[in-house]
Amino acid sequence: GRPSPDDLVAGLNPQQREAVEHRGGPLLIVAGAGSGKTRVLTNRIAHLLATGEARPGEILAITFTNKAAAEMRERVEALVGPAARMMWVSTFHSACVRILRREHAALGLRSSFSIYDAADSQRLMQLVCREMDLDPKKFNPKAFSRKVSDLKNELIGPREFAATIADGNAFDSALAQAFERYQARLAQASALDFDDLIAQTVRLLREFPDIKESYRRRFRHVLVDEYQDTNHAQYVLVRELAGVETEGWDTRGAVLPTGQLTVVGDADQSIYAFRGATIRNILEFEEDYPNARTILLEQNYRSTQNILTAANAVIARNAGRRAKNLWTAEGAGPSIVGYVADSDHDESTFVVEEIDRLGDSDGVKPGDVAVFYRTNAQSRSLEERLVRAGIPYKVVGGTRFYERREIKDAIAYLHAVANPDDAVNVRRILNVPKRGLGERTEGTLAWFAERERISFGAAVERYAEVGLPPRAEKGVAGFAELMAGLRAMLEGGASAAEVLDAALDRSGYLAELRASDDPQDASRVENLAELHAVAEEFAQATPDGTLADFLERVSLVADADQIPLDDGGQGVVTLMTVHTAKGLEFPVVFVTGLEDGTFPHMRSLADPDQLAEERRLAYVALTRARQRLYLTRAAVRTSFGVPNQMPASRFIDDIPPEVLEWRREESATEAMRRGWAGDGYGSGGYGGYRSRRDDDGDFAPAYGSGARRGERGSTGPRGPRSFGDGAPASGGLGTG
Ligand code: ATP
Ligand code: MG
Repeated sequence: GRPSPDDLVAGLNPQQREAVEHRGGPLLIVAGAGSGKTRVLTNRIAHLLATGEARPGEILAITFTNKAAAEMRERVEALVGPAARMMWVSTFHSACVRILRREHAALGLRSSFSIYDAADSQRLMQLVCREMDLDPKKFNPKAFSRKVSDLKNELIGPREFAATIADGNAFDSALAQAFERYQARLAQASALDFDDLIAQTVRLLREFPDIKESYRRRFRHVLVDEYQDTNHAQYVLVRELAGVETEGWDTRGAVLPTGQLTVVGDADQSIYAFRGATIRNILEFEEDYPNARTILLEQNYRSTQNILTAANAVIARNAGRRAKNLWTAEGAGPSIVGYVADSDHDESTFVVEEIDRLGDSDGVKPGDVAVFYRTNAQSRSLEERLVRAGIPYKVVGGTRFYERREIKDAIAYLHAVANPDDAVNVRRILNVPKRGLGERTEGTLAWFAERERISFGAAVERYAEVGLPPRAEKGVAGFAELMAGLRAMLEGGASAAEVLDAALDRSGYLAELRASDDPQDASRVENLAELHAVAEEFAQATPDGTLADFLERVSLVADADQIPLDDGGQGVVTLMTVHTAKGLEFPVVFVTGLEDGTFPHMRSLADPDQLAEERRLAYVALTRARQRLYLTRAAVRTSFGVPNQMPASRFIDDIPPEVLEWRREESATEAMRRGWAGDGYGSGGYGGYRSRRDDDGDFAPAYGSGARRGERGSTGPRGPRSFGDGAPASGGLGTG
């Protein structure tokens, strides 16, 4: 039979039990990682249903990802049965879409309104900027998109923003106008962008009291997980929905029903400040909701004491936090294992060999293991070694390296250079980056190729005979010349890496990404730098290898069929950035790249706030582990085509040595080599990226290639020793 309400609190500790049984005013549960916050939220929902105090339809539970929502729904369903399907358990965005689909008419939207993703909304902003005749160098459309997103997260509309602009601020004035036009275009298209989903739902509730009332009557219980990562718009949305009225809060005079609000979170795990999330929402909950009850949970049920000791020590160094004393009844468990590899490749080799070994000696299944990294580009060498070892894996919250768009583009260039008749690849890059060659031009070239019975690539070379309009002809001529130049390089004996660099450089591909301040483009630059490293590695291993050999090898690794599947329910190894790992747990966790400059990310080193966020990120990473935790780093990491000496992450230094056992330490020769290595390395051509923000774990280096040495050297004694000279970098293309 169904569990009784008592069953739902059995096995909980007294604080957890209180949180499940609490009724009445707003409830805040603050607690460290693994203390059962999510479990309490789940059991609380089940308890409300089992006691008959709430019907499933009266529950709105908000989680941070769709995956977390699915898990929570499943768990409640397992506890109380299929009626649980009537609950709303979803992310903020999905909940808002559901509300807006019902209430579209009030906002003048079609019921089938479109939702623009980041790429769509950037395209729209580009269009708007072009209409306004803005110089893209001064008024970067992507920067505008970013700002508009920030403003929407603060619930600031175009007019409100315009009212705040200082006289003579040309950028902001243009931005305000672009914002207004952008909104008008969205409305014309009956479309909403991602941030609008929240902002427009807030508007709906604020402007239509009857609609607000109907939702308040409906959702008598609003529960929010990971509350520390809500931004202002989400915060207001919660208040509007839960209807916990306080002084100064605009109720428009109506006496509305109030719901019961439960939020759970951990200020130490706030890792989305760059998206407008504010810890303030959790720190000041009690002020915002004067009648709130706060419950602290201190017992951790996830990890061993050694893992907790390490995690507690790392987070303890952040200033201005409420001290917590997380403990476990689990016992010490195995020591945390540290490993210093000579290079990033050796680091991946160690991780994969260790996963293999754990399987053989301890029966650890691939599905028990997660490998974390700070930035997406770091997955490449891991993926390659996993494929070779025949260990099944998945990349969560990201795309496998060789399926990423920029990698496919770059490889298409190489294919097109190696084989001019490769129509698919030539066509892929004909207008990448944009050269004003649209479908029409492509069609004309294809038609010409067919008529002349030649390949598409050959038609490109004979552009002058095709009869293209002058502008298109000029564009094709430029492309033909580019390809001819690259082929000449290849015939002259250039390596795959050199051809790659030249292709990305001369085509303007890299420059376009670097000029962008979209964090995704920063990540693309990093991935391309990683591809460059693959080509370099290939040249070292196979000095006689041709470009065709290189491409053959890449297609073998890239072929999805090569990736072993989960056979026999053993699960697959999970690769993910630390950001994606929030809320999850795994028996075995590898945290890789623990170097100052990798994790913490380079761009955070000079900024205390960002460093504090990196530290919270490290806390999240360590606390995902249940039994075994590995901390690895590379003494030399090649990034942006440059091998860099990397000092240990400061986070490692904070871990008490008695819980950390070094499987391999930096060798003496390695340490000595630090004295001179690094000098004479060229600076990476992929390094000149200027974004300062981040989305899903892809931090871009904030410093141009010239500034990197100086910046890093200036971090004082903590900086990499070999970068202390502050000498100007060469600005070469990473051929070091
Ligand atoms: P995070 O901050 O990482 O999101 P959390 O506080 O949400 O962590 P949970 O994921 O809810 O923690 O719980 C961590 C683990 O501890 C889960 O496996 C959960 O089932 C288990 N757990 C929680 N409370 C208890 C308990 N009273 N008895 C046994 N296991 C528990
Ligand atoms: Mg949780």
